[in-house]
Amino acid sequence: MSESTDVLVVGGGAIGAAVAYFLRLKDPGVDVTVVERDPSYELASTPRASGGVRRLFSLPENIALSQFSIDFFERFPVAMAVDRVPADIGFHKNGYLFIVPPSHVERLRRNHDTQRELGCNVLLLEPEELTHRFPSMYTEDLGAAVLSPDDGWLDADAVLMGLRRKALALGATFVADEVVGLDQRGSVVTAARLASGRILRAGHVVNAAGAWAKDVCAMVDVAVPIEPLRRYEHYFECQEAIEPLPYLKDTQRLAFRPEGRGYSGGVPTLAEPRGYNFGVERSYFEDVVWPALAHRFPQFERTKCLNTLPGLYDQNDLDGNAVLGPVAGLGNFHLVAGFSGHGLMHAPGCGRAMAELLLTGSFQSIDLTRFGWQRVANGTPLREHGII
Ligand SMILES: Cc1cc2nc3c(=O)[nH]c(=O)nc-3n(C[C@H](O)[C@H](O)[C@H](O)COP(=O)(O)OP(=O)(O)OC[C@H]3O[C@@H](n4cnc5c(N)ncnc54)[C@H](O)[C@@H]3O)c2cc1C
Repeated sequence: MSESTDVLVVGGGAIGAAVAYFLRLKDPGVDVTVVERDPSYELASTPRASGGVRRLFSLPENIALSQFSIDFFERFPVAMAVDRVPADIGFHKNGYLFIVPPSHVERLRRNHDTQRELGCNVLLLEPEELTHRFPSMYTEDLGAAVLSPDDGWLDADAVLMGLRRKALALGATFVADEVVGLDQRGSVVTAARLASGRILRAGHVVNAAGAWAKDVCAMVDVAVPIEPLRRYEHYFECQEAIEPLPYLKDTQRLAFRPEGRGYSGGVPTLAEPRGYNFGVERSYFEDVVWPALAHRFPQFERTKCLNTLPGLYDQNDLDGNAVLGPVAGLGNFHLVAGFSGHGLMHAPGCGRAMAELLLTGSFQSIDLTRFGWQRVANGTPLREHGII
């Protein structure tokens, strides 16, 4: 490992690996070092993600990020092949469905219109059409739905490994170590101190530490509203057959999809105390998830939860959106975190955006200026509307 690098990326999850990949792709002359403290990714959020990818957002930035990223995922096996071995990510293009009660129809309709204006293939469905397509679904309390048939879900761990392998093949360096401190001269971050005792000088530092991003920001005395938020992914099966389903999400935050012989999903809650908590409350499925499932599909009256995996959202408590770009007047210290449950699906788009920013000083493809630090500094949220 050289003791200096052009760009040092803290954290080698989907986001850090995507930043490294796009940097090397766009400029093979730039020296990129990713410092990842746990190459097994045991607690990292990426391998624990549900894998959902969707264009169903209200902010044009998020829709554009999804459009680029989902197209990228379609091309992933070939584009990310190393030594001609395809990088399969198990993309199930089985659709993504938002269902809402009458009180949310107006909002859903507006989001749908924005999505269509931006070129998304999305369908607004009345309850009768919903019943026709999904006869098992209880629809009497629903006002409408939007189906995005080209979306779906994929294998999050395979995405991470594909990005990492390709970044390595293109010449990025991954170091198994922990960043424990950052050195500063005025408003410039000059070096990272690693747990091993090494000091790595850097031209730019990118904080892609996910749910741990606030700890890395604290190393330069910057407070961020990004907090670790526990969220369970359950695997459950039911005895009676249900027709093939897309990834389904409702306004009560029930979110699930088919997985093998059963289903994978959960009901994330913002009421969860913030913290690095990987414990499992066994009653959560029975108390919260199961009633929501059984309400929507009678088949789930008899269901069995066979596995519960806890993971952490990098929750941006200001507005639930990513913060991307230089932070708090530090021109060469960049944040790309706060995805609040969208980080896997936006990793390609945000990796590319961060590479553009670092190499050219501005966004070239999707203008993500509104996702910058300014809104955090001003305390002015940029919210998603509808289901998040
Ligand atoms: C249960 C669950 C379901 C989800 N479902 C979806 C979904 O369906 N779709 C979707 O798009 N997103 C989903 N997400 C969110 C998604 O997983 C995250 O937004 C995304 O993985 C964030 O990627 P990351 O690279 O920022 O974080 P991570 O994958 O956590 O990577 C950060 C890395 O930084 C490393 N690190 C931290 N501090 C340091 C340090 N000081 N030095 C060195 N290394 C450090 C960590 O070891 C870690 O590997 C889900 C999340 C959870 C928990």
